[in-house]
Amino acid sequence: MILIHDFGVDLETYHELGKNNDFPMVEECPHCHAKHSLHRHGFYERNAITAEKEYRLLICRFRCSICFQTVSILPHFLLPYFQHTTRTIVQWLHDALHQTGTNPSKRQLISFYLRRFIQTISWIYMYFARKI
Ligand SMILES: [Zn+2]
Repeated sequence: MILIHDFGVDLETYHELGKNNDFPMVEECPHCHAKHSLHRHGFYERNAITAEKEYRLLICRFRCSICFQTVSILPHFLLPYFQHTTRTIVQWLHDALHQTGTNPSKRQLISFYLRRFIQTISWIYMYFARKI
């Protein structure tokens, strides 16, 4: 399971801090709902791509000692299962929907994101609804 967390820093700072980011404690397992501190279970790397630059970020993982399921803490500027940052995707979708500023070399990627956006619209709605 993936939990979104606002680390209070931007992408560049999160990247620079790496393992020294202020990772939250997870006090309740989102899988089995046991109320206990989940154990830190290392990191994995994932891409974060903006219009200008690509980053490899460390994502902190926790593991429940009761159900043995894992939980990852994703920084708020990323969406689960998307390599591009939220801001980049939203900008491209905005450009595509308004037919402005669309780089021809990005049309296939934007088309991919539009299809995926439409397929996952209810999940994306829930993501943004929680942020308000
Ligand atoms: Zn659990």
